[in-house]
Amino acid sequence: MDIAIDIGGTKIACALIENDQIIDAVKVDSIIHTNIDDLAPYVYAQIKHWVAQARSVNIACTGQVSPDAVNFLSVRRKLPLQAQLRSLTGLPVTIINDASAAAWAEYVLNDHVSRKNFIYITVSTGVGAGIVFNDEIITCADGFCAHLGHTAVNIPTAQSYPCHCGRENCVEAIASGTAIAKYASQALGKTLSAKDVFTHYAEHPDIMPIIDNAATAVAELIFNMKATFGNDTVIIGGSVGLAPLFINKVAAKVQQAPEIYQVTLLAPKSGANADVIGVHHYAKKQLIES
Ligand SMILES: [Zn+2]
Repeated sequence: MDIAIDIGGTKIACALIENDQIIDAVKVDSIIHTNIDDLAPYVYAQIKHWVAQARSVNIACTGQVSPDAVNFLSVRRKLPLQAQLRSLTGLPVTIINDASAAAWAEYVLNDHVSRKNFIYITVSTGVGAGIVFNDEIITCADGFCAHLGHTAVNIPTAQSYPCHCGRENCVEAIASGTAIAKYASQALGKTLSAKDVFTHYAEHPDIMPIIDNAATAVAELIFNMKATFGNDTVIIGGSVGLAPLFINKVAAKVQQAPEIYQVTLLAPKSGANADVIGVHHYAKKQLIES
């Protein structure tokens, strides 16, 4: 049996996996934004009753993930999470970015995906991504790769969109749920969540351009990736990415692009457990190849 853990900004999901099936699971609130220094013992407390029967711990984690440390970008804090959990559990620990894990779940489980090269984009609170190139997930030494939310794009407005990473006009600064909520709240003069925007105000004349810019940003990102990786498929998930109004706009913009930029857009298949299933399969592959 193996343990798989998904560490996000809102929730932490832990699963005990046998023969690729989740046989036990626990989900708790995340403490990244409240008490991040206790993250490793907090995660260990959720899984310690499984440790005696497990052979490995595999973690999908938000942020800039490297073997040395996870840099939690939103709270500007680094933790040596892999070493901490290895020492707490006494088990081998694999750790990758959560969106990369979800991409790998699609590689394994999504029958429709063109396996060799594809891009997985999740548009939710932030914009995350995983890149599969020549049947491998792209990873790098310091973990800052495939962070496609922090690539800048052209959008047809005079406005500049500052990003929390320090650049301007990042996809995340235009298309994330956080950005959509921020600009919609400014436009209507009241506090709105991204869910409020899509549920109640999507047709509002002051809101439509905000959603349109968000869709343009994601379409531009898709074109940049096509020109870089030659991928013929893009999978878009996340709470914003799955909103029909949003994805239909993205699809229309892709359709209008020149032929060399055409890609097949797919919805994710792997569902709510994508991150834990993805990192489980990724770790298994690493074990086979080592
Ligand atoms: Zn950025």
